[in-house]
Amino acid sequence: MSFDYDLFVIGGGSGGVRAARVAAQAGAKVALAEEDRYGGTCVIRGCVPKKLMVFASEYSGMVGDAQAYGWDIKPGAFDWDAFKGKLHGELDRLEGIYRGILKNNGVESFDSRARLADAHTVELADGTRKTAKHILIATGGWPTVPEFPGSELAITSNEIFNLEKLPETILIVGGGYIASEFAGILNGLGVRTTQFYRGEQILRGFDEEARSVIAEGMREAGVDLRVNINVTAMRQEGGKIRVTDTNGEEHLFDQVMYATGRAPNADNLGLEELGVERGKGGEIVVDQYSQTTVPSVYAVGDVTDRVALTPVAIREGMAFVESVFKGNPTSPDHELIPTAVFTQPELGTVGLSEEDAAKQEAIEVYTASFKPMQQSFAGRAQKVLMKLVVSKASRKVLGCHIVAPGAGEMIQLAGIAVKMGATKEDFDRTVAVHPTMSEELVTLK
Ligand code: FAD
Ligand code: NDP
Repeated sequence: MSFDYDLFVIGGGSGGVRAARVAAQAGAKVALAEEDRYGGTCVIRGCVPKKLMVFASEYSGMVGDAQAYGWDIKPGAFDWDAFKGKLHGELDRLEGIYRGILKNNGVESFDSRARLADAHTVELADGTRKTAKHILIATGGWPTVPEFPGSELAITSNEIFNLEKLPETILIVGGGYIASEFAGILNGLGVRTTQFYRGEQILRGFDEEARSVIAEGMREAGVDLRVNINVTAMRQEGGKIRVTDTNGEEHLFDQVMYATGRAPNADNLGLEELGVERGKGGEIVVDQYSQTTVPSVYAVGDVTDRVALTPVAIREGMAFVESVFKGNPTSPDHELIPTAVFTQPELGTVGLSEEDAAKQEAIEVYTASFKPMQQSFAGRAQKVLMKLVVSKASRKVLGCHIVAPGAGEMIQLAGIAVKMGATKEDFDRTVAVHPTMSEELVTLK
């Protein structure tokens, strides 16, 4: 049987673009359809604009620091329009790079929504049909907002980068990555920020001690972080939103942002008609090689609901190409994935939390908590946490948790040692780099 392409990729985000590029480089004839903007969530409405907003927001604290270091500078106002213009210029530039990656590698791209017509056929929005030996679904995810009276008034992370103007007050609902990161960002940009989390402590699933240091740091920085609370109703009142909470109290905010999770983008793709199995959360079910229940159809990234991170989607895309186009069956490794939460203070983490490790085996825990030199000199009461969770029997470091400025940068490197199976003694015999914060990791007693 002959096909138009060896591979048709649906979705031009992190996983899809990488898979398309490496498959084309391996000699495959490849096409890709993207219905919105190339680069996907990470580049257009996720990691990249978010991190640039983190940088923007951190300058508010740095002015005071600079004064303490002797600089004669005055705090000024944050100009959202100026920042937003530059931000979107940068996103346009990056989207161009993603388009270029595809073009330069001979991938044919279609600016169109696509769906599956059969196990080897993709149908574009205008009805055009293209056949392919293999089809890769990399359609990512989308924010979800629970249904309750007035929930349509909420914005999500999708809209936050395009606000006409910054609100004076905002309520952020949720306690995961996105809610906690944006609470820090907006607070830093001068928005009076309230965060509601329905549970006991934000960032469920991470190390408890780290979570509490972050929550404390966020409160000290000015976020009005409230726990064991949720929203029951919202209504428009003039230009503002009146919010009723689970205690029956009412509050008025300029804006409400929901960050209560994301759902896989797998509806209306023709999956049901074809017999591609979906899981409880709507995700596409795949095996260890990212193959769905229809053998010619594969899926990677957030649409599969494994670990919703950009480098993971990329790894899954590359493992798919390795397996299908290079004759080398490869399953993406989801063990010991280092990750950062760009809260203020920032979290870098790899491996097991103290609580999860203790359920598994006898452990020893080593921690250091201190004020970093740079901020402490400037009179900022920021607290740093360095923590190693160690197996008593094997001495292996099972988990490393860092709450500190630059924790994301630090955990990338500590993650190599943990992935290699380093023991506490391996950490100890590494000579410290002085004076740094991360030297504490090799001197923990
Ligand atoms: P996506 O990048 O979402 O790409 C899917 C693409 O498919 C989209 O462009 C979409 O338009 C397109 N599409 C969907 N349906 C169709 C269709 N039927 N036809 C054609 N095209 C279609 N991860 C990190 O590692 N670090 C971070 O700091 C980080 N920050 C984040 C911040 C935010 C606010 C958000 C929302 C996410 C963040 N993430 C972060 C997660 C990361 O963005 C995702 O894990 C990653 O983008 C998933 O890649 P993907 O290829 O699976 O999907
Ligand atoms: P998360 O799943 O991380 O967090 C969702 C939050 O919303 C949880 O605190 C959850 O509470 C709460 N929640 C869920 N339903 C409701 C509800 N009905 N009412 C009130 N609260 C509710 O999702 P996010 O949207 O924050 O992020 C999605 C994913 O994107 C992340 O898991 C991560 O994989 C990725 N991401 C990665 C980033 C990074 O690498 N730095 C940054 C941003 C996103 P509970 O804990 O009680 O379930």
